[in-house]
Amino acid sequence: MSPRTIVVVGASAAGIATAETLRRKGYDGRLVVVGDEKHLPYERPPLSKQVLTGEWDEDRTAMRDTASLEECALDLRLGVRATGLDAAARRVTLDDGAVLGYDGLVIATGVRPRTLPGAGELSGVHTLRTLDDLAALRASLRAGGTVAVIGSGPLGMEVAASLAKGGAHRVTVVTDEPVPMERVFGAEVGTLLDRVHRGKGVTLRTGQTVTGLAGARGAVTGVELASGETVPADTVVVAIGSTPNTEWLADSGLTVDRGIHCDAYSAAAPRVYAAGDVAHWHHPVQGERVRTEHRINATEQGAVAAHNLLAELDGIPEQRGEYAPVPYFWSDQYALKLQAYGLLHGADRVELRYADLGDPDRPRVVAFYFRQGLLRGVLGTGIPPRVLREARGLVARPQPWDGIRDRADDVLAALG
Ligand SMILES: Cc1cc2nc3c(=O)[nH]c(=O)nc-3n(C[C@H](O)[C@H](O)[C@H](O)COP(=O)(O)OP(=O)(O)OC[C@H]3O[C@@H](n4cnc5c(N)ncnc54)[C@H](O)[C@@H]3O)c2cc1C
Repeated sequence: MSPRTIVVVGASAAGIATAETLRRKGYDGRLVVVGDEKHLPYERPPLSKQVLTGEWDEDRTAMRDTASLEECALDLRLGVRATGLDAAARRVTLDDGAVLGYDGLVIATGVRPRTLPGAGELSGVHTLRTLDDLAALRASLRAGGTVAVIGSGPLGMEVAASLAKGGAHRVTVVTDEPVPMERVFGAEVGTLLDRVHRGKGVTLRTGQTVTGLAGARGAVTGVELASGETVPADTVVVAIGSTPNTEWLADSGLTVDRGIHCDAYSAAAPRVYAAGDVAHWHHPVQGERVRTEHRINATEQGAVAAHNLLAELDGIPEQRGEYAPVPYFWSDQYALKLQAYGLLHGADRVELRYADLGDPDRPRVVAFYFRQGLLRGVLGTGIPPRVLREARGLVARPQPWDGIRDRADDVLAALG
């Protein structure tokens, strides 16, 4: 077999999982990993949690120690951006002028935060995706300062919780949602979260449209609302969603449509796979195309992409496996760990099947998410791991409620 080159673009969770799986499966050819951040691979979830609260030092976010990375024998090119792909010629162009020919390619370029027009012109306005973002945010925070968080998705509410902790900052969340996280978790769970955050001293300005940012002498002073009000803030965190990093793939021959269009094997084209937040793949069990921004998915999909690429290169495509995970997501806010399995988005019915609201700081809840009569997702908080694992089994595939009602009741019976 002639020597091969596999290129992985994106040196974070999905890219590293891909590279490690390739080596574990015996791939001993050249393995180039290109990442545009200058840092060694690190974990993002703690950035809005333990690192933002100060409980963890940034060093604890390292994804691997240098010895493990060395074991992988990577040609690791950090601080270098891929600027173009010619999938027909099998070539990736980098911004340092290099052109990498490849036998196989895995794209793991993730997403970047959306922001507001004019945000870049005022100091004190931040997004949070990278270690550099975190450093910039920290530099503009001052004890007891006023912070406005725009957006009430998981990231916005984690940032609010971390900054409000112990009364360190006066935090206001500004959102167009009626209750926090309604789009992700539904109104019922959102209402519980609303109560928890207010109880912790966070001001929630729900149902508001942000029209702009107010500033003086180049620094942000507040968030302007459609009502004509200005929410005062000396730091603003914009957490209004993200955009897949796919611009560099224009003219590549790949289909880009809210992420990289992939089939059930995570393949985007012959010898090209995508994994992690950037992949919009056909989920064979859910029967629809799915793109998730979940940490565990990045690892699992990277591993499957690596396996399938090697099978394709080895001429045994029948050994490729479909990528059909039960999606999993968690979010930590104060003492709450919210965990969700399956698909929650697009639900037309949400049922709180179990709710113990005795402790206002830690509601214990199980919610089921339905679409067109099919149970597709479950969310739990304050629930023993064993019960949650069993609940996961209920949503491994979309199922009519009538068929699993008894099983669901059995699972919940353990909660008393
Ligand atoms: C603050 C924060 C908190 C989070 N908390 C949770 C949580 O609690 N639970 C959960 O499940 N998930 C959470 N996530 C999401 C989780 O971190 C992501 O799902 C995961 O990082 C996705 O990994 P990825 O490798 O696909 O993409 P990324 O981690 O985004 O990595 C992509 C990498 O590719 C680089 N890149 C982009 N374009 C190019 C290019 N053209 N050339 C070279 N390099 C490029 C990017 O700079 C980046 O380094 C959180 C994310 C953030 C930001």
